[in-house]
Amino acid sequence: MTYAEFRDNGYNYFDKNNNILFSVDKMHNYLLDYIDANLSCLPKILEQYITQRIDASDFELKKYKNNIEKINKIKELLISAHPYYEYEYKRTIIKAIGNYFNELLLYSVFFQKTLPLNCTLDEDWYLEKLHVLIPSSLVVAGDYPNNFSPFDFYHKYKIWIDDRGYQAGEIEESLIPDIPSEMPIGFSEELRIQEIIRNLLFQTLCISQPLKDLTNSDITKATLPSFYEINNLQELLQLEIANMSLANTVVKRCENCGKYFIPRHKSQKYCNRIDETGLICAKAAKKKLKKDRLQNNPALKIYETAYKRNHARKKNHIISQKQFNSWQHKAKKKLMQVEEGTLDISVFQEWLKK
Ligand SMILES: [Zn+2]
Repeated sequence: MTYAEFRDNGYNYFDKNNNILFSVDKMHNYLLDYIDANLSCLPKILEQYITQRIDASDFELKKYKNNIEKINKIKELLISAHPYYEYEYKRTIIKAIGNYFNELLLYSVFFQKTLPLNCTLDEDWYLEKLHVLIPSSLVVAGDYPNNFSPFDFYHKYKIWIDDRGYQAGEIEESLIPDIPSEMPIGFSEELRIQEIIRNLLFQTLCISQPLKDLTNSDITKATLPSFYEINNLQELLQLEIANMSLANTVVKRCENCGKYFIPRHKSQKYCNRIDETGLICAKAAKKKLKKDRLQNNPALKIYETAYKRNHARKKNHIISQKQFNSWQHKAKKKLMQVEEGTLDISVFQEWLKK
């Protein structure tokens, strides 16, 4: 069990021994990175992992294949999406494997009909398969997370079957709702949570905009209780968004990298992330803008080249500072004339060559 203690526009997340696991401040960077994190390859990796260990049609175990690198990749992806997963990845992955296994059974039994129902209801048969699928690196000394042992998943599977009266064989299959008609998608719960949080953040931001004018009213003095028991990432992030809403937090999209951030002042356009060019967003945007201006202005481009050449000449004492200043003054004047259309660019180019 983990806990979160909320304070003014932020919170601490900690374990049962009161150790702080991570903290969130008023910039809410973890949440804003999380809603943009790319989790879309998780289902594919899980499917590859499972079908390397088991035949997806008859559920025969394959010759033992130690494909633990797939699990490590999943762990890495989860943790890079949100630090919550650093402490919860074992439970998250075991849950995803168990749920996927159950859905795959339903799909094979009822839709593909490659597997007889009775065989899947045999407890030994079921547990043998699922034990092979849950990697031992996630289970220290047989210690499964609460509600997520192979037996718990077997129990859930059996209840699903019992609830629909399949064992009695009295009910027409085609009349039963929620028989999976497509290959199941792994990690559907984690993907769903991300979608919910993304939508919730947008909705909350929209309705929080008018509140900005009421900064001194009683509405903004509302507070949340500060202490919470946290059962999953969705709970934690919903509380965080409520906390942001009460603090009238405004979120913007960075005009450089497109990710969300919380501006320190109204006119801030860029976040403090490092973009793919290795520069902080504001600097990267400035560089791009300059490049665009040069590309759209051939006269400025040839001026810049000549400027660099003359600057180097000055540095190497080929021309004096005075000569350089005089050149720059004239060159700028001519550049302006080209831009105004009173001087031909080819004449300007010839002059610069001198
Ligand atoms: Zn940015």
